[in-house]
Amino acid sequence: MNSKDTRKQFLNFFKDKGHKIVPSAPMVIKDDPTLLFTNAGMNQFKEYFLGISQSKNARVVDTQKCLRVSGKHNDLEEVGKDTYHHTMFEMLGNWSFGDYFKEDAINWAWELLTDVLKIDKDSLYVSIFEGSNDADQLEMDHEAFELWNKIVPVDRIIKGNKKDNFWEMGDQGPCGPCSEIHVDIRSKEEKAKVSGASLVNQDHPQVVEIWNLVFMQYNRKANGSLESLPAKHVDTGMGFERLCMVLQGVQSNYDTDIFTPIIREIETITNSDYGKNEEVDIAIRVISDHIRAVSFSIADGQLPSNTGAGYVIRRILRRAVRYGFTFLNTKEPFMFRLVKVLTGSLGDAFPELKEQKQLIENVIKEEEYSFLKTLDQGLVLLDSIIANTKGETVDGGKAFELYDTFGFPIDLTALILSEKGYKLDEVGFDKAMQKQKNRSKSASEISKEDWEILQDDNEQEFVGYDMLDVEVKITKYRKVVSKKDGTQFQLVFNLTPFYAEGGGQVGDKGYLEDVHGDVVYITDTKKENNEIIHFAKNLPKHLGESFKAVVDKKQRSRTEANHTATHLLHQALREILGKHVEQKGSSVHSKYLRFDFSHFSKLTSDELREVENFVNARIDGQLQLQENRNVPMKDAIEEGAMALFGEKYGDAVRTIKFGQSIELCGGTHVKNTGDIWQFKIKSEGAVAAGIRRIEAITGDAVKDFHVDNDTLLTKIKDALGNSQDPVKSLVGLQEENSSLKKQVAELLKDKAKNLKGDLLQELEEVNGVQFLAKHIDLDAGGIKDLCFDIGSNKDNLFLLFGAEQDGKALLSCYVSKELVTAKGLNAGAIVRELGKYIQGGGGGQPFFATAGGKNPAGIAEALEKAKVYLTK
Ligand code: ATP
Ligand code: MG
Repeated sequence: MNSKDTRKQFLNFFKDKGHKIVPSAPMVIKDDPTLLFTNAGMNQFKEYFLGISQSKNARVVDTQKCLRVSGKHNDLEEVGKDTYHHTMFEMLGNWSFGDYFKEDAINWAWELLTDVLKIDKDSLYVSIFEGSNDADQLEMDHEAFELWNKIVPVDRIIKGNKKDNFWEMGDQGPCGPCSEIHVDIRSKEEKAKVSGASLVNQDHPQVVEIWNLVFMQYNRKANGSLESLPAKHVDTGMGFERLCMVLQGVQSNYDTDIFTPIIREIETITNSDYGKNEEVDIAIRVISDHIRAVSFSIADGQLPSNTGAGYVIRRILRRAVRYGFTFLNTKEPFMFRLVKVLTGSLGDAFPELKEQKQLIENVIKEEEYSFLKTLDQGLVLLDSIIANTKGETVDGGKAFELYDTFGFPIDLTALILSEKGYKLDEVGFDKAMQKQKNRSKSASEISKEDWEILQDDNEQEFVGYDMLDVEVKITKYRKVVSKKDGTQFQLVFNLTPFYAEGGGQVGDKGYLEDVHGDVVYITDTKKENNEIIHFAKNLPKHLGESFKAVVDKKQRSRTEANHTATHLLHQALREILGKHVEQKGSSVHSKYLRFDFSHFSKLTSDELREVENFVNARIDGQLQLQENRNVPMKDAIEEGAMALFGEKYGDAVRTIKFGQSIELCGGTHVKNTGDIWQFKIKSEGAVAAGIRRIEAITGDAVKDFHVDNDTLLTKIKDALGNSQDPVKSLVGLQEENSSLKKQVAELLKDKAKNLKGDLLQELEEVNGVQFLAKHIDLDAGGIKDLCFDIGSNKDNLFLLFGAEQDGKALLSCYVSKELVTAKGLNAGAIVRELGKYIQGGGGGQPFFATAGGKNPAGIAEALEKAKVYLTK
């Protein structure tokens, strides 16, 4: 059965059991401070498991794009080396939110695998939680055992420990025992020799876990204790690629139709064969895996970059390029050429790939290109490190620098070193790495106390579209401590006027005031698990009372002006540059706005002017905000709104319209474009291949901008003697300056000519050498010319000139070449020695050298000492 059908069958099986099929959430997570990437199907449903809100559907089924390369789940080092761990993979999952529990979850999983998909029952093993003897004192999961025992022989039910059979979301939060299903895909002969049961959970590549059924029944509190959850949930995850491996009767995920087309393409491009040599095979698996992770991430709007999620993506791409470079001999960008095959096979299930193919290719190609350059530079650097190495062990700290600053992979360093007969000081490298990890870890460490619940409230409404101050009550709060922000309190209200950071717009600031006049400032507002969290430095004194919650109006209205201007800018770019322009990121602050979009070339100054004019015309037009808070997604799209890739939308959306500009948007906006007052672009530049960035300002910031420019102009005019036409005055000054420069050069030349005549007269013969030491009034270049000029007239010459310029001392020494050999005179050595009199140093060649110093008073003494070299 091909993979497309398998995916469909899974979804339809659970649809028939009353589940709603929902789309995958984006792989890149934008509004969860605890997670960079989706690493399990349950991430997008966290708010339901935590009881923050209620799912509309109690039963849901989906396939979720996951990435396991950072944090709690990091499989990166396994990928390519084994045959069943990927960085990016699809997790098939069925969910019950307080609906069915263990019985249905277990029976349906068995029915799907054995009845529908016809996997041989004798090749399946299941595991259950054996209980724990630690602080939790948990009992064995008898319920799961009994349920399995009805359908599976007892010798196929394996009892597992906490590590394998107790699932936790994190240090805190929902958790519970789990039951895994493992498949043994070995041959009959092998099965006869060693029992499959003994290989479960032993990292055997042919006895692998395919499905994990998690039964969430506890909540882990901050103090480490467990409490029972009021509603019990089911969370399952099955590796799609592993399931396909089993159903297609192959021994590796990479031999399924999900990977073979990519592998064939790599073989063609790199002229290599898969299946002949283990090192080459690993490289091919790494590349075929990583191209998926990187492409999906770019499609979700996360470009490779130097920080955060972008850096993780950059590292993955570089890992693949590196494997190609070392084992497939690829010295040119090639991975971008795989995108076509990838979109061919996955583009139907994930249309974001198809629609952004061109962009994905461009970005990957550019990244590859620049990393290959880095590799080249790294190789040169490594050579110089080797050249400076005494003994045969290369310093681990140096290797770490190469790794950290240039992204030069450590395994490549080790490989090259061993080829050249050197060793790497691995301990030193690990130490340097650990030191850096500790630094960044302690900076990001954060401890959270449990929520203190003050009152039950099933939903916290956001009223900040219409109101900026409103009476609220605190429903819960907790203390959080981090190195970066110190101690803070997070507050949740029953309703709130504060906008939480999201959709590119910053969170609101403001304050809470109680009837006693006590005030607590709200420093920021963010969303976590879809809940609006208000940050404060202090806890209000009278927690149980009502508060007036007041949003900082000035910051809010400036931010709104920038947000509306961002929409108008988006519209302008699509009108003026073309419909290929797509939003790739936006950041709306009170002081400025930033907008990233796809476009292939730099904007000309005419285009920029046109864009500004377009936006300002709509500001002058005083367009009224038309807001619709509850439109079916379908209708909004029909009306012309664009859904952004990598964003999560519900069935009903909010649309924001100003004239012809229409967008899906949850942010806050001006009531009328006239409120923006003015729009001004401050900069335009590239962020990545095919992605441009515009930064702009509006309203008061434009006023300030003009005032600053005006002040600057006045200052310039003043400096130009109150010139009425500063440009003309400046051009005049420049012309005058360059003609004066020419004159000075001529004069100096003449002076040198005269000087030469005089100096020739002054030469003194000492021990057969024509000698002169003298203070002269020329610049360094003039003196040098003079020396060589005299040198071309006289043999056996030794000159030492001293000069003072801008308070600094200069010594120049000239020695005829024949003297260098005959008398062992060396200009370089001489100026180095004499340099001490002028408190400086220098050097050069044996026949000409200079020294600079900060003590002009010492020139005379240096000149006096010169003769000594001839009488020695
Ligand atoms: P494993 O022990 O094999 O790493 P896991 O315990 O980390 O698996 P879960 O977190 O329970 O796996 O994830 C649910 C399912 O997702 C697994 O049963 C497996 O089929 C699949 N899966 C997990 N990690 C990967 C991966 N890196 N690549 C492909 N599939 C995976
Ligand atoms: Mg794992």
